[in-house]
Amino acid sequence: MMPALALVREADYARIAQRFIAGLTAQLSNSKSAKRTAEVSLGRWNVLFSVARSRNSRELFDRAVRVTPGGVHSPVRAFKGVGGTPIFFRSAQGGTMTSVDGREYIDFCQSFGPLILGHRDTDVAEVVREAIDTAWSFGACEPYSLELAEWITSRLPWVEMLRFVSSGTEAVMSALRVARAATNRNRILKFEGCYHGHSDSLLVKAGSGLAGEAASSSAGVSDQVASDTLVAPLDDEEAVREVFDQHGQEIAAVILEPLPANYGLLIQRREFIDEVIKLARANGALVIFDEVISGFRVALGGMAELLGIRPDLVTYGKVIGGGFPVAAYGGRKELMELVAPVGPVYQAGTLSANPVGIRAGLATLQKVERANAYAQLEERTANFCDELKSRLKERGLPFQVTRTASIFWLHSTTDQPIRRIEQIPSQNAERFAKVFHAALDRGVYLSPSGYEVNFVSLAHPDELLERASTVILEAAGLAVP
Ligand code: PMP
Repeated sequence: MMPALALVREADYARIAQRFIAGLTAQLSNSKSAKRTAEVSLGRWNVLFSVARSRNSRELFDRAVRVTPGGVHSPVRAFKGVGGTPIFFRSAQGGTMTSVDGREYIDFCQSFGPLILGHRDTDVAEVVREAIDTAWSFGACEPYSLELAEWITSRLPWVEMLRFVSSGTEAVMSALRVARAATNRNRILKFEGCYHGHSDSLLVKAGSGLAGEAASSSAGVSDQVASDTLVAPLDDEEAVREVFDQHGQEIAAVILEPLPANYGLLIQRREFIDEVIKLARANGALVIFDEVISGFRVALGGMAELLGIRPDLVTYGKVIGGGFPVAAYGGRKELMELVAPVGPVYQAGTLSANPVGIRAGLATLQKVERANAYAQLEERTANFCDELKSRLKERGLPFQVTRTASIFWLHSTTDQPIRRIEQIPSQNAERFAKVFHAALDRGVYLSPSGYEVNFVSLAHPDELLERASTVILEAAGLAVP
């Protein structure tokens, strides 16, 4: 038999919720505590209706698992890290997404990072509409990618030339190919806890044997390919030195997320990054910054700008396409001139520099620059995270917020900053799963894994962030016994 609450139809739910919210809003005084009390009751009311709310998502997921592995087109979407059935969304606007069941969620996943202006920014939407009315794909030369390439190269001096591709994975894979060709060496060095896409040579983890040796971290990656990649721990200059002592002459490039944001947010010490670069240069290896997340996100010029470091090659994705599949690799001219058709490094793509994505990307970056977005995002996210942090502490809840620019990570409390994966508390994933679901029930969608970071966009106004903060705090309270 169906639970009684499931009899509330989605349309009714949306209508009743709207009326309820309007009633509450009318009663709100300006006082913060009155506002919070009202928000908490709204959260409880939402939980009450959660049975009715997720019916359509469950039906869709049951169908999806029959035709797609795990029901998803990218693993983390399956909620494996948090348990339960994923929500299916049908639309999104600004800082929120709406589920197929008609429920609105404050969204901190933001498609895992591209949406720095939030969902469907109105200015970008106009450009995209015009692009769709103009041309979808030429497979030939066009002015739009030229405009974006010139826009980027005129602002980021370390990007003397670039090539557009369609995903971060492709960008990294291609940059590594260039590095191998340029140095005539085969091996690359990456760091444990950094993610660089799903190309074979990067699906590796630290091996148990000699300094730096790696083992594949995915079935289907051959031992030969895995053996071209060396892996060192983050935040450990000595370990990196040892790898260079043993393999210095074999390493084509060191690839680094200068702000590792794929295994929590593992903010590195400046001295560590400097030492890695020093060792690479001393051994004739190229330095590749993987700025797929941090590029155009933490600053226009990403971490390279913030650190004042010129990488030899750099990879971008996410924000560069404003929510469409655009990515790029670029760097020093003489390196990029190794790429076909000028040079011998082959790399191509049917939909590379797709005009719709490229125009969305340019419109996004231009608006970010015009709106002075980075200062605004910094202030907004800092206020939100600082307040949440101190409210968690006040209530004695064992959670903490780590932040850089508009990226934040909610995790279990530790005494020291977390810079390496083994420093992440062992109960983190389990505890996060509880916070995640309690927040979800109350209308806040965090990235669905304790190891994923969250994003604040320009479309998250202070009022939305305040509401989210109250929900997360309540959710954290429910997550601990
Ligand atoms: N590099 C980094 C740093 C990333 O964060 C990601 C994706 N999260 C990638 C590469 C791969 O990008 P994509 O998913 O577009 O292939």
